[in-house]
Amino acid sequence: MKPLIVGNWKCNPNSLVEAKKLFNSIVKGVKTNSMVAICPPFVYLSELKTKKIKLGAQDCFWEEKGAYTGEISPLMLKKLGCLYVIIGHSERRKYLKETDEMIDKKIKLVLRSGLKPILCIANLGQLKNSLKGVKNLILAYEPVFAIGTGKACSVEKARKMRISIEKKLGKNIPVLYGGSVNSYNAGNYIKEAGFQGLLVGGASLSANEFLNILKNIDKI
Ligand code: PEP
Repeated sequence: MKPLIVGNWKCNPNSLVEAKKLFNSIVKGVKTNSMVAICPPFVYLSELKTKKIKLGAQDCFWEEKGAYTGEISPLMLKKLGCLYVIIGHSERRKYLKETDEMIDKKIKLVLRSGLKPILCIANLGQLKNSLKGVKNLILAYEPVFAIGTGKACSVEKARKMRISIEKKLGKNIPVLYGGSVNSYNAGNYIKEAGFQGLLVGGASLSANEFLNILKNIDKI
């Protein structure tokens, strides 16, 4: 399977003009063997179009429609051309108080809507046995200490975690690594730690750096 490299822009950039500029620079430079997806803020999704890379969202709600002020459903995201939805990111667990129960409901609706959830976990306790073998599910191991800190997880610790996740969920679910990935360390998580892809936050906000990550992975 080709590596899956996902850029999570979080709450950036500040304007549609900047979002288009960043997106177009990435699209223009993309020439890779990896599968690539960008997850911008919701408001930019309808404006960012290309056939070269996939789109994803950073979250969604667990109901299809109704009286849920401020929420966005997976069906809406599908209609905007999304393929992936990040679920359970540690920043949402921390700042929005998302619980395992909420995350579970979101995953179920994302799957029923025909999209692929990228479930972020920081430890094995967040991993339900019921997810074993679930088709279209993607896992992302993101240790909290490594997210946005510049202190990436050691390759050995990440490798051990990947093996534990695979023991619990089976080998058919792709597992990504996320946490301070950059163009220098990216290849190690694929080559040495055996991950099937990466979830890239800060480094996906620079087209050059993101493209260098892709280039370095192609060299493996
Ligand atoms: C993330 O947003 O999922 C992430 C891993 O961020 P960063 O790469 O900036 O650590």
